Amino acid sequence: MKLEVVTIGTELLLGQILDTNAAELGRGLAAAGVEVVRHSSVADRPDAIRAAVAEALERTGFVITTGGLGPTRDDITKREVAALFGKALELDAAVLQSLEERFRRLGRPMPAVNRTQAEVPAGATVLPNPRGTAPGLWVEDRGRVVVMLPGVPSEMRGLLAEEVLPRLAARTAGVVVRSRSVRTTGIAESALAERVGAIEEEIAPLTLAYLPSTDGVELRVTAWSLREDDAERRLAAAVAQLRERAGEHCYGEDRTDLAAVVLDQLRARGSRLVVAESCTGGVLSARITAIPGASNVFIGGVVAYDNMVKSGTLDVRPELLDQYGAVSEQVVSAMAEGVQRQFAVDAALAITGIAGPSGGTAEKPVGTVWLAARHGAERRALKRVFPGDRNEIRARSAQAALDLLRRLLADKP
Ligand code: AMP
Ligand code: MG
Repeated sequence: MKLEVVTIGTELLLGQILDTNAAELGRGLAAAGVEVVRHSSVADRPDAIRAAVAEALERTGFVITTGGLGPTRDDITKREVAALFGKALELDAAVLQSLEERFRRLGRPMPAVNRTQAEVPAGATVLPNPRGTAPGLWVEDRGRVVVMLPGVPSEMRGLLAEEVLPRLAARTAGVVVRSRSVRTTGIAESALAERVGAIEEEIAPLTLAYLPSTDGVELRVTAWSLREDDAERRLAAAVAQLRERAGEHCYGEDRTDLAAVVLDQLRARGSRLVVAESCTGGVLSARITAIPGASNVFIGGVVAYDNMVKSGTLDVRPELLDQYGAVSEQVVSAMAEGVQRQFAVDAALAITGIAGPSGGTAEKPVGTVWLAARHGAERRALKRVFPGDRNEIRARSAQAALDLLRRLLADKP
């Protein structure tokens, strides 16, 4: 089953808020086997709303809207959709009663404007919204359907799960839209694409998407409108193929966090971990401590931002700092060794780099980061030059440090 989503709100176009409703609808509907074939956003303007909904109906015959159902003057979705279907707005006694009750419970008089929220297009199905004042509305006429949901994300989410998805399930009869992914890091998108090669024909009708982020490149395969068992079987086969082609760059599937992978590796060896962070200033520690159960592996770390801390607490020799600079293989290796010795644990990670926007040189541009990993006497150091702004560079550095230790522990290049 296919449909279109129209999110309504001038604030969306101005970029004042992110369109989380469109994203949530995409995810929620896909999981229920419904394909969102297009999503558009329009301002709170009558002509814009009517045109967007009319065009979407023309294409797919089924539209879900969010926003513009409130009691204020800019909330006009209902009126435009009713006009599109040639239906009048009628006061719905049950909706009016539940609105009045809601205000009574809150001990407040109901403002007159809220009465308009009890008006519904003639013949519409009211989708009760216990979380707010605007109910959802399901208007269906001669095979065409418009479902109007409120803009407030928590209300939209509640109505989607409780009222919309169950009704759609009755129409989709056993097919699903389902995705699985293979997570990679330490390899650029284009290099990964070369390794994966022309796999698209082999996995068809599944589709493959490359999704790069600061964590790496996610390979996501999607089954569209297939029977559940067929989708699962094809997805499992595609994931196995992708894992094999991604090789040592693959660290997990679906929502796996690399920090959790490394913690598991260390736990299996009975090893504990300490970190020394310069440019990341705690980002790596935050990644690790975000994983439940980190405490039996991770002991903590030192934010060695200034050279004073690098030499004073981590015993990095001042000569190394003078001769090679704080962002160098010599210094990152000495940081890892120093923090490992200082706290007497098996595993250590160290990061030092230039997160920018200033501080770069021709020889060491912004984004230059040295990483070091140790496990016992085994050690590795790696230089990377990351793209992006300060936050991205710091996020990429933490991920790359974790990956360096993952590869060291797995004895992979
Ligand atoms: P509305 O139903 O248009 O009155 O929207 C109510 C509130 O929900 C507004 O204050 C918006 O900030 C929020 N909202 C509306 N549309 C969206 C959307 N597509 N994504 C996230 N939030 C939204
Ligand atoms: Mg609005």
